[in-house]
Amino acid sequence: MAHNELVFAPLGGIGEIGMNLSIYGFGDDRRRQWIIVDCGVSFASEEHLPGVDLILPDIRYLIEERKNILGLVLTHGHEDHMGALIDLWPRLKVPIYATPFTAALFEARRASEPGAVEIPIQTIPVGGHLALGPFAIDFINVAHSIPESNALAIRTPAGTVLHTGDWKIDPAPLIGAPTDAGKLTALGDEGVVALVGDSTNAIREGRSPSESEVAKTLAELIRTAPRRVAVTTFASHVGRLRAVAEAARAADREVVVVGRAMERVVQVARETGYLDGIQDFRGVESYGYLPPDKVLALCTGSQGEPRAALARIAEDEHPDVSLSRGDRVIFSARPIPGNEKAIARVINGLIEQGVEVITDRTHLVHVSGHPRRDELRDMIGWVRPRILVPAHGEALHLAEHAALARRAGVPQVLVCRNGDLVRLAPGAAEIIDALPSGRLYKDGALLIDAEARTIAARRRLSFSGIVCVALAMSDKGALVADPQVELIGLPEVDAGGGSMMELALRTVEEAFEALPKARRRDPDEVAESVRRAVRGAIAERWNKKPVCHVHVLVV
Ligand SMILES: [Zn+2]
Ligand SMILES: [Zn+2]
Repeated sequence: MAHNELVFAPLGGIGEIGMNLSIYGFGDDRRRQWIIVDCGVSFASEEHLPGVDLILPDIRYLIEERKNILGLVLTHGHEDHMGALIDLWPRLKVPIYATPFTAALFEARRASEPGAVEIPIQTIPVGGHLALGPFAIDFINVAHSIPESNALAIRTPAGTVLHTGDWKIDPAPLIGAPTDAGKLTALGDEGVVALVGDSTNAIREGRSPSESEVAKTLAELIRTAPRRVAVTTFASHVGRLRAVAEAARAADREVVVVGRAMERVVQVARETGYLDGIQDFRGVESYGYLPPDKVLALCTGSQGEPRAALARIAEDEHPDVSLSRGDRVIFSARPIPGNEKAIARVINGLIEQGVEVITDRTHLVHVSGHPRRDELRDMIGWVRPRILVPAHGEALHLAEHAALARRAGVPQVLVCRNGDLVRLAPGAAEIIDALPSGRLYKDGALLIDAEARTIAARRRLSFSGIVCVALAMSDKGALVADPQVELIGLPEVDAGGGSMMELALRTVEEAFEALPKARRRDPDEVAESVRRAVRGAIAERWNKKPVCHVHVLVV
């Protein structure tokens, strides 16, 4: 009989930033019990995936294994760690565990989603413990860019894994305790089989500055602003919201919260005590009544999201909030890769209105919530794992984290991919199987398989449009009405000024006439000949081939 193994598989988050979902299993290859860690989304960029809002991990394998799943543990409340739950949980219905802020933030998100089903979450206290079958899980406090980020120490009869989640070392975080080096060192003393760790900033030397440094810069910029100030940051970054609020109070400015995501987080943070001691904020309707040097707008939209508050302000289209010459906007955030163009559009819109824009290129108005290289070395030194598996990063970040770990003396480093089933113990770590994995797209109200043709077809249409042709013909193969043609997304005229519509109509008729009588009776043959002729004729003038649909109706 095979002995009990401890296995790990990422179903998202490896080779990409976003969509984090890991599973840990204990048992033999005939029956394993599983826990899931996190269930996040990635954000789609408009050009690549037209019409797609979110990318989610494909959980086929988890649905198959549902009976053996003991629970799902959330490390923290960022969307790349819990954003897929609203859509995917109804297919799993497993118990969810999270610390209070994460649970409250999730519930607020869920309640804002039209039609979302109730999703129960069991709350684990900060620094708490959870026993699930063979897994004994300790929540270890780590600093990050949201309250209550947790590393998970997962103990099993085959050994202990440290799943770091998202973390950094910050000696003076503005919220919560610093990363719990004592607990991590004690865990290392006990012996750790594997460390599965955050690689996001593995290419950055040194240590990330502290949130309290950022707070100082923000306070100075807010104090010296001559007129209105708007600050945009990630809504869930409650530590940063605190820093801004304190700076506003010191500068005798009222804080006005602009944007629904920000309002939601502020409410959750008030309920969970993370804004204790912070003055009340004002509703957006009071913005217009406050003198310019007495107001600070805390806005959503740091990533250039077109529907968020700041983009609408930059277009001068916000119903309550406007900015003008001499006002100051502070981007207390870094562009998430892929969002640079959208952010540039917002910044340009503001500058055209005469607004001064301050970003982290010139001022320390943002720091990352992820560990740089010296911090990664500290973590390895505390935990002293036998195996290190780089996670939470693109290929480059994983490779750099791996190389750093080898140089730091970790005996085995294993870089894996989404879907790899890795045996962590007993013995050396090894990839022993490939699990079904992939991605799903949130398309309107539906989830579609990334392999489905839908999005590829949509991309093709967005590139070259579509020609629709309708022909009505008798069963003898004679046209019984004039062909109907519709062009969608095509140029109206060619270089010589000739009408594309006329060209298409003429080509349809000529192609039909050119078919021998016998072949005209076959509607499929007619459709295919006409389709090819139309595409060919248009391509000759345009040098691009549109999609062409021909409907032949036999009457
Ligand atoms: Zn993350
Ligand atoms: Zn995070």
